[in-house]
Amino acid sequence: MNQTTRTRSTQEWQRADAAHFLHPFTDFQSLARKGSRIITRAEGIYLHDSEGHKILDAMSGLWCVNVGYGRQELVEAATRQLQELPFYNAFFQTATPPAIELAELLAEVTPPQFKHVFFSGSGSEGNDTVVRMVRRYWDLLGQPQRHVIISRKNAYHGSTMAGASLGGMGGMHAQGGLPIPGIVHMEQPYWHELGRGLSRDEFGRVAAGWLEAKILEVGADQVAAFIGEPVQGAGGVIVPPETYWPEIQRICDKYGILLVSDEVICGFGRTGQWFGCERFGTRPDLMTFAKGVTSGYIPLGGVMVGDRVANVLIERGGEFNHGYTYSGHPVACAVAVANIRLIQREGLVERVRDDTGPYLAECFDALRDHPLVGEVQTCGLMGAVLLVKDKASGAPFPEALELGMVCRGHCFGNGLVMRAVGDRMIIAPPLVMTRAQIDDMLVLIRRALDLTLADAQRNGWL
Ligand code: PMP
Repeated sequence: MNQTTRTRSTQEWQRADAAHFLHPFTDFQSLARKGSRIITRAEGIYLHDSEGHKILDAMSGLWCVNVGYGRQELVEAATRQLQELPFYNAFFQTATPPAIELAELLAEVTPPQFKHVFFSGSGSEGNDTVVRMVRRYWDLLGQPQRHVIISRKNAYHGSTMAGASLGGMGGMHAQGGLPIPGIVHMEQPYWHELGRGLSRDEFGRVAAGWLEAKILEVGADQVAAFIGEPVQGAGGVIVPPETYWPEIQRICDKYGILLVSDEVICGFGRTGQWFGCERFGTRPDLMTFAKGVTSGYIPLGGVMVGDRVANVLIERGGEFNHGYTYSGHPVACAVAVANIRLIQREGLVERVRDDTGPYLAECFDALRDHPLVGEVQTCGLMGAVLLVKDKASGAPFPEALELGMVCRGHCFGNGLVMRAVGDRMIIAPPLVMTRAQIDDMLVLIRRALDLTLADAQRNGWL
């Protein structure tokens, strides 16, 4: 079949989609009944669907389109590279100019301990690399018993066997016999659920203390690394208290365990710093990235390898038996170089830090007066609004009501993509978003909240 967008109707697309395309994280039968929304093009921060709707994309695709849609520089970088050298691998003592150039540029924009990178095709693969690399590191140091990696409940680190194991999503562990051995989980730093009796700062220290408790439970000489997202993204944009990460760093240092920062969402400006670890004051040994490295225009991920690990791998090394066909894919790397240069040239990180990030925080603060809103958090250009039944106590709505999904439906209905994680309504819009566009987004968010409130009142849920 050789039909273009223009020659097929929405229904025809939906029929073919339902017949052949199994979507990620989807109840296939239910989606086939409803039919997918068909997104056909995009410009700036707006999507267009096959029905002619214009939709404000407050999720940057899937947390990735940091520079917005339709950037010609990235298209040209890809086109040029596709013509010159569409592919060559990096396995057999070869390299390509874009991969080398990107490695050099990443060393420039990441914190000073990072001079080396291992490329993958995605964030999940990056975290698979992390698991293999930290275990290899301790093997080379003659401590092979140090193989346990500590992660957190409600973390998201990807969907491969290792990525899903590192993640703390019960629903994922329940399918496929996960986690794999040697990965354990501690509680997350979610004040609203776990710390309401304490100040946020006190809770941050308590929550970090759970790492020390877990290290002692496992046995300090067994623990290889701790991994965490600076801000939990897929878990619901959970911004930890300011006291949390410095204390995590202190505990990692005390026991000599590696700190891994999963920057797949937080990297490349999302938090108002180049990387989330800079925003929260940690010095990770490894850093996973993906998404924003190419603004999602083409798949690419990887792991920044800090000196502590790189020196051991390089000096004591031998072969590291690990790698992907697309490690250092020249077209992906060329797009990443163009993307990072664009972020630098337009000062997008500084803009989020000094202007749009603080403005978004102000606008979200103003949502606190809404009867449904129990908690509001932002960090750079991401944010969460928690819907609660009772503002004073923070008591939630019954899960079965799926109020977040109701609210998400109203967002879509009004031309806004906002995601629901339980009853946390979350955003992570493109970093090119202007103040005026933030205002437009807030009008849509408030309208969705009002319509959700009206539903709750009409149905007696309040
Ligand atoms: N780590 C984090 C923090 C993520 O948010 C994601 C994806 N949302 C991943 C890893 C996995 O990345 P990918 O989907 O590219 O495999």
